[in-house]
This record gives sequence, structure tokens and C-alpha cells, in this order.
Amino acid sequence: MQKKRDILDEVYKKIITDDDARLIFEEAQYEFHYGKLEIAPGLYLKLSFAELTLLLLYGLPYSFIAKWRYEGWPTSCAMCDKPIDADLDGWSFSRSLKVRGVEVKDTLTCLKCADVLAGIFMKRRAETFRKLHKKIFKKR
Ligand SMILES: [Zn+2]
Repeated sequence: MQKKRDILDEVYKKIITDDDARLIFEEAQYEFHYGKLEIAPGLYLKLSFAELTLLLLYGLPYSFIAKWRYEGWPTSCAMCDKPIDADLDGWSFSRSLKVRGVEVKDTLTCLKCADVLAGIFMKRRAETFRKLHKKIFKKR
């Protein structure tokens, strides 16, 4: 069995760059796919499920995720202040969020608030389409 590697630790200590980490991860995926690596790349590279989520679902850089690991994740929902344990609870990441009129960057929301935000987003989108449709219709 291959010796595990902690790429977030290496990135945080600036032993490797974000690009190096990306290549190492891709290589591990490749080796896992072809049976040369016996454990899943995330486990092999010592990434937690929450860290993998930021990486694969939100596409955040390794250096960003490393910073959260060593300097702390948000511990509550940006919208309702409900406590969030990133390793145990469901959550949604936001690059930028308006909370009571103030912009909050790089934050987590609980799933209930994420649902509300998604609803607002879809409603706004539908309104934009409706306006656009009216505009196009009037021109004819
Ligand atoms: Zn919330």
C-alpha cells in the first residue's frame, strides 16, 4: 500500500503550489482508475469529505481549502447564525452573499437558508426572463 500524502499540509507550508497539488490529485485519480492506487485519491491525499466538497463541487483552490483547515472553517450559517459543523452538517458554500444588506465573502449557509437563497435566485431569474420576453415581444 502506498504511503499517504497530505497535499493540503504541503500547500499550506508552501512546499508545493496549487498547480502541483492539482497535478498530484489528477495523477492519483489516474492511478486509482488504472488500479495502481488501492485507496481513493481523497483518502490517499488525506482530504476530508468537507474538503473534497470544496475542491470538487465548488472548484476552490487548494490554498483556500488549506487556509480553512488550519485557520478555521466558518462555524455558523451566515444567514441565520445556526451552528454548522462542516464535517457533520449539510451546508452550502457562497463566494459572495448579501446578509442584511452587507456583503459577506466566502461563507457557509445551512441547507435551510441555502434553499431559501436558491428560491430567491430562481424567482429573480424567472422575473428577468419575463421582462426580457416582454421586451422582445414589444419589438415585434
Ligand atoms: Zn441558516
